[in-house]
Amino acid sequence: MIVKTAAIALRSVPTANTSRVVTWLTPEHGRVATMIKGAVRPKSFFLGQFDLFYTCELLYYQRDDRELFFARECYPNKPRPALRHRWKACAAASYMADLAARITPSHAPQTFLFHWLDRALDELDRHDTAPGELFWLELRLLTHLGLTPRLQWCTGCQAPLRPESGSISFSSTRGGLLCGRCARNDPNPARPIPPDALAILRNWQKAPDMATARRIKCAPRQLAFMEDLLGQFLRYHLDLPLASRDLAFAVMKR
Ligand SMILES: [Zn+2]
Repeated sequence: MIVKTAAIALRSVPTANTSRVVTWLTPEHGRVATMIKGAVRPKSFFLGQFDLFYTCELLYYQRDDRELFFARECYPNKPRPALRHRWKACAAASYMADLAARITPSHAPQTFLFHWLDRALDELDRHDTAPGELFWLELRLLTHLGLTPRLQWCTGCQAPLRPESGSISFSSTRGGLLCGRCARNDPNPARPIPPDALAILRNWQKAPDMATARRIKCAPRQLAFMEDLLGQFLRYHLDLPLASRDLAFAVMKR
């Protein structure tokens, strides 16, 4: 069966001399791997038609008894040229693509993830990248996965928590905030979260789009705190190594 679909190139691995195995994210079929034979031969039909972070129209031969399919045709709809020379945006795009590749199952519809990544790459292609945008994207993804950090109430006693509520802690294990009393009695580690950091986190969580997230002011000290806090939360709940995340934030600080 020939499948025609929109597809974002997540990974491209050389095999033999001129062939590539390309991993794609598609809306209807989730993660799909295709062999592109002779992809980089000078006269190849595929030459220049795909690269990392392109959104393409892809046609491939699907067989139920295979995990790796043969690509038939490929046309670039969004080549996103800035992601090839703006290295901060490239590092951010690599992290987003890596995250999508790791959490997307094969051959299952992934409409949300496809559009999440497609729009993220559009934004990264258009603008200089701010860490707040990546935090916003991470929070959107966590919400989609049903893992949104609970930031309004204590996850222990359910009491509403406001800045004047006194000491507030954040626990990745509990999935959100703990009041002072619950944090003292909880066997899992929790870290105090300052009122300014909590306000910023809440603002990112309710920001409707990346443009709004980009405008939320954040000092370097606050960014470092968020990087650590959300990194720990993602690692705990997704159980992923996320070396690409560390690299993206290291590059953005330069
Ligand atoms: Zn409590």
